[in-house]
Amino acid sequence: MQPEASYETSKLQPAGFDDNDPRFFMQLALDEAKKCTPSQTAFSVGAVLVDSTVQPYRILATGFSRELEGNTHAEEVCFTKLMNETSHPGNEMEYTIYTTMEPCSERLSGKKPCVDRIVDFGRVSTVYVGCQEPSTFVVENTATSKLAERGIRYLLVDGMSSECRSVATRGHLA
Ligand SMILES: [Zn+2]
Repeated sequence: MQPEASYETSKLQPAGFDDNDPRFFMQLALDEAKKCTPSQTAFSVGAVLVDSTVQPYRILATGFSRELEGNTHAEEVCFTKLMNETSHPGNEMEYTIYTTMEPCSERLSGKKPCVDRIVDFGRVSTVYVGCQEPSTFVVENTATSKLAERGIRYLLVDGMSSECRSVATRGHLA
């Protein structure tokens, strides 16, 4: 039996994955997404924020939808947890975030969209997504162009979109 992965360790390369394989971190994000309480009116998303300046990448924070109070989104939870830590040396744009669904560009609640949080955080150079946002709640997600404008790389992780989408829509009516 495999020991349960600990997010505290910086040695997180299981057999079968190359160093820093995006699928590995997307799988961790998917594990986070599975912790969400299913919601009929929201997606269940997981996210992992890493420092990609070190080898292997160091996990800074993980998050999932509604993990923190206030109808929070997964990416928002990562940033909130990180901000609560005391020291963030440097100001390089060398963080990478893995999120099971593309970051939202509009929130019906009027809260700040995750794509704006990513841009404003100022240190994320790369966004990996597991799947695109279905048009269930918001017709058109504009995260792609917002990230491109800021020179932030935006990449879809191969082969994980159907699982990411099916976890994201848990609790939705068929
Ligand atoms: Zn969001």
